[in-house]
Amino acid sequence: MRPVPRSITQSHLCWTIPSGSGHRQSQMKSRGIIAAAFAASVAAAALMWAVLTSGIATIEPRYVVRMDMPAREGRIGLPPVEGPADTSRPLVVIDAGHGGHDPGASGPAGEREKDLTLLLAGALRDALLADGRVRVAMTRAEDRFLVLEERGDIAHRLGADLFLSVHADAAQNDLAQGATVYTLSDEASDSVAEALAMRENRADQVNGVKLAGKGEAVSSILVDLARREMRGRSMRFGELVVREGDGRIRFHETPQREAAFVVLKSLDLPSALIEAGYISNTDDARAMADPAWRQTFAGVVARAIEIFLAEGQAGPGVAAP
Ligand SMILES: [Zn+2]
Repeated sequence: MRPVPRSITQSHLCWTIPSGSGHRQSQMKSRGIIAAAFAASVAAAALMWAVLTSGIATIEPRYVVRMDMPAREGRIGLPPVEGPADTSRPLVVIDAGHGGHDPGASGPAGEREKDLTLLLAGALRDALLADGRVRVAMTRAEDRFLVLEERGDIAHRLGADLFLSVHADAAQNDLAQGATVYTLSDEASDSVAEALAMRENRADQVNGVKLAGKGEAVSSILVDLARREMRGRSMRFGELVVREGDGRIRFHETPQREAAFVVLKSLDLPSALIEAGYISNTDDARAMADPAWRQTFAGVVARAIEIFLAEGQAGPGVAAP
């Protein structure tokens, strides 16, 4: 049986043509056609190479896709929006800090920040949905990793009215305890706030993704325009959390602080990062692990959110502190 050629090459093609003088002319003609086809292929490849190395090749397809994609079809899927069907209701995006391969800080009994933040964020979502005044979306509803800027990006793409990232603080000693509300600032309010921001910002380095440069660019274009107003409104939200939580949850002795958090940096909407307590403190870690405490915490923050958003809807004059 004649072997079947594995690939179409000139020698294989010639080999299929019968030998003998009667066929020499057709063989020569076939060689001519093969040579022409080969030359055409080379020319086509050269043309493609020329096109790809010309101006067209300078377009980064990845960027075109990112810029032109409709908001709801971005590079990571948008989470569901829960709550009232009325889309005129304000939307809160709750971000459970850390997740996936980034466990965050850890507690004395092996508590992991990423687990507590998910539970705290879930309790806050439930409290807001029970009240039924605002719509809610979670950046993550399970144990998965998100790059810091993806979290803010979700809020931006959903058109959120408030972004809230939930974390648990950690200190070298066991003494530090209580909740703290952080808002964005280029200048940290103190060295502790600065150190915390550095720790929280490190989340992206775990994944080997360097976003610092991009963050600066985004902030210079987008955030500068609205930064002053958003900073004032974010601080107002922090005030409300501390006011509503007075006597109900323990706050740090400096309950409102500012620092340069990457997760808040690209946002052009009011935003805050709440450290619900110190995971390094035995009492705080136990409290955050307790569903009843989480419910109290969620009630306090939900009330602050509802007041804050009601102020925003009533107009800027009313919203001013
Ligand atoms: Zn954290």
